[in-house]
Parts: sequence; C-alpha cells; structure tokens
Amino acid sequence: MSGPVRPVIARDNAYFFAGTAIGELRIQKCNACGELRHPPGPSCPDCGAFDRGWVVAAGTGTVFSYLVHHAPQVPGKQLPLVIALVDLDEGVRMVAEVIGVPPEGPDGLAIGDRLTVDWNVIDDDLTLPIWRRTEAVGKRNV
Ligand code: ZN
Repeated sequence: MSGPVRPVIARDNAYFFAGTAIGELRIQKCNACGELRHPPGPSCPDCGAFDRGWVVAAGTGTVFSYLVHHAPQVPGKQLPLVIALVDLDEGVRMVAEVIGVPPEGPDGLAIGDRLTVDWNVIDDDLTLPIWRRTEAVGKRNV
C-alpha cells in the first residue's frame, strides 16, 4: 500500500507542519492586527499585512459539517473516510479527518459533536492531525 498524499510544505505553511511534528496545532496569526486565519496565506485578508506569526490552538472544536468519503480511492487510506469541517474554539475552520466513529448509523458523527485533535505520525518527516470525538478521548485515557 502506498503512503498518504504528502502536503507541499512551503514558506506559508511550514509553521503548521513544524507544529504537528511536536504535537502542536498551530493557527496562522496576523502580527499587525491579531486576526487568526486558516488556511494559511502570505498576507492578512483583514488588513493586508504580510507580517505573519502563529498561535498554538487548544486542539478542540465542534463539527460544523461532515461527509463520508466512499470513492474514489485515496492513496494510503482505507475507505470510507469521515471528513469534517471543524470549527476550532479559536474561531477558525479546518478540514479534519475523524477516526474512531462509524461511517454510518446512530453512532456516526453528527453536526455539533465535540472533537479533539490527535496525531498521525506518518514518518520522521510528516505528522498529520487527526481528530477523535472528545468523549472518546476521555474514555481512551481511563
Ligand atoms: Zn491583519
């Protein structure tokens, strides 16, 4: 089985993957006006400044919407996949792969569910965020 699709890491998003490598979910922040934004970009959509930094997110959020991906095949992944748009508590929205939930049925993911980030270590050079239901994270730690 081939590995997952690897992100293209460039100047605008290097901070993000440097964060995932050490277990930090980072959000781009405008150093000029303080606005948080995701996905990252070179300049602030609010004030136009190019002075960008980042903050570390709590790693928790709420499902805004989701889908269950059945096809086509995704390299390095077993289908179906549950993909959500998660509203982080800091106020930005991210695309999130959710694991540990059945793809269908009454126990499947629901809008409004609380999620907590976890880490999928692919290899020495790449760690990707994955998300679990917050309640499941609690149970896992018992
Ligand atoms: Zn700004």
